[in-house]
Amino acid sequence: MAMAKPTVVLLPVWASGHFIAALDAGKRLVAALGTADFSLTVLVMRPPTPESASQVAAHVARGAAAAEPIGCEVSFHHLPAVDPPTGCTSVEYFTSQYIHLHAPYVRAAVAALPLPAAALVFEFTSTTMFDVARELGVPAYVYFASSAAMLALMLQLPAIHDVMMPEEFGEMEGQHVHVQGLPPVPASCMPASVMSRKSPSYADTVYHGTRLAEADGIIVNTAAELEPAVLAAINDGRCTGGRPAPPVYPIGPVIPLSDATSSDHECLRWLDGQPRASVVFLCFGSLGFLNAEQVREAAAGLERSGQRFLWVLRSSPPAAATASAHPLAEHLPPGFLDRTKDQGLVWTSWAPQREVLAHHAVAGFVTHCGWNSVLEALWSGVPMAPWPLYAEQHLNAFELVASMGVAVRMDVDRKRSNFVEAGEVARAVRCLVSGGDEEGEGRRARERSSAMRDACRSAVAQGGSSFASLHGAAAAVRHRLEAGVDGN
Ligand code: UDP
Repeated sequence: MAMAKPTVVLLPVWASGHFIAALDAGKRLVAALGTADFSLTVLVMRPPTPESASQVAAHVARGAAAAEPIGCEVSFHHLPAVDPPTGCTSVEYFTSQYIHLHAPYVRAAVAALPLPAAALVFEFTSTTMFDVARELGVPAYVYFASSAAMLALMLQLPAIHDVMMPEEFGEMEGQHVHVQGLPPVPASCMPASVMSRKSPSYADTVYHGTRLAEADGIIVNTAAELEPAVLAAINDGRCTGGRPAPPVYPIGPVIPLSDATSSDHECLRWLDGQPRASVVFLCFGSLGFLNAEQVREAAAGLERSGQRFLWVLRSSPPAAATASAHPLAEHLPPGFLDRTKDQGLVWTSWAPQREVLAHHAVAGFVTHCGWNSVLEALWSGVPMAPWPLYAEQHLNAFELVASMGVAVRMDVDRKRSNFVEAGEVARAVRCLVSGGDEEGEGRRARERSSAMRDACRSAVAQGGSSFASLHGAAAAVRHRLEAGVDGN
C-alpha cells in the first residue's frame, strides 16, 4: 500500500479561469517540491450555478487524469454544499461570502488528513481561511490569479482607503490614484469591486487587502520580466507602508495546456485559410457579453475597418437558453454576415482561444483583459486592444497600455456600460493589423508583445525567473515542514 505523503491543500475558486490555472499552479508547486514526496489535495466547493458546476465537474475529471502538464498525485475532495448567501449585490462580494461559508468544512477536511498539510493554498477572495490555517498550524499561501499590479493595489488599499475618505473612485473624475510601481492610475480604472465606497464589495475588498499581509507567501501568476516595477514596489515594502510584504513568488505565466488538441476546430480551419498576421481576434472571456446596441456598433466598426476578423459573439447564458441558436446574430446590422463573409467569421460559442492566439494568421486581440487572456496573448506575442468589462479588467487594460506597452489605446466609456463607438473599434483594429497611425502605436505594441513572448517563455524554462521563484516557494514550504509547523 502506498505510504501517505505530505500534501499541499488547494482551495480554488470554481470559475473556470480560476479553477484551471490554480490547479495547474498547485501541480507545479508539487512538482517543484518533488512528486515522489508530496501530493496535491484539491478541496472542491460546489459551484453556485449549474453552468459552473458542470464546468468544474469537467475540470475535475480532467485534473484527476492528471496527465498534463506535470504528473503529480492529485486527489479531489468535494466539500459539503452550503446555501448560497442572499442579498449580495456584486459577483465579487457573493464569491467572497460564499467561500467564507465553507470555512468549517475546509477546517474539517484539513484536520482529517493522515499527515499535517504541507501548506494551505487559497485565492485572495478566501482570506478568511487564514483563520483555519492558523488554528491548524498550517502555513497559508495565497495563489494570486491576477496581475502583480492588482496585488500591489490590494496591498495598498487599506492605506488608500484611509487617505481618500470620503471620496469615491467612481466620482473622482479626471483624478489619479498612486499605485506604487505603476504610472498614476486614472480613478476610472479602479477595479469594479471598489468603485463605490458604499458598496459591501468595497469593504470586502479592503478587508482582503488587509489580510493578505498575513500570508506566508503569495504565489502570483505573472513573471518578473512582465511587471518588474510593481514587483519591486511590493518587495521593498512600498505597498505595505514600509512594513515588509509577505514573500511574493511570480511563477507565471501559468498557462494550462489545452484540454485536447483541437486543430480540427472550425475556427482554426478558417484561420488556416487566412494570410499570415492578418486577422484580429475578438473574445471577451467566460462572462463578457455585449448588449444588442454594442453588437451593432462593434459590427459596424469591424466592417468599416476593412480588416479580417474572428469574433466570438456569445450570448449570456439566460439569453442563450431562451433565444434561437444565434441570438446575438439577430442584432447584427442587416446583411452584415453576407457582406463580411470573405472578411470575417462570427463564432457564437466557446472558441479554442489559446490555439487561436497561437495561430500564425492572428495579428491582434481585442480582449476584455481577463488576466488569463492577457497572459495567453503575451505567451503568443499577440498585441492587444483592451476592452475591459468587469472585475479588475480596467486596471489590467491601463497597465497593458501605459506600463507594459503591449496594447494599443481603446476608448471605452465605462459610464456607458463600457461602450465603444464603431469608429474607435475600426481605428483600434486597423492599428493592430497595420501598425496604425503616424505614432506607430500598433507597431510598438507588436514589438513589445513579441519581446514579452520571449520573456514569458524564458521565465518558465529551467533556470528562468519564474522557474527559480517556483522553486523558492517550494523551498519555503519544505523548510517550514521540516522545521515543524511552529518552528519558523
Ligand atoms: N476562453 C476560451 N474560449 C472562449 C472564451 C474564453 O478558451 O470562447 C478561455 C480563455 O482562453 C481564458 C479563459 O477562458 O483561458 C478566460 O479567462 P480570463 O481570465 O481571461 O477571463 P474571465 O473569463 O475569468 O473573465
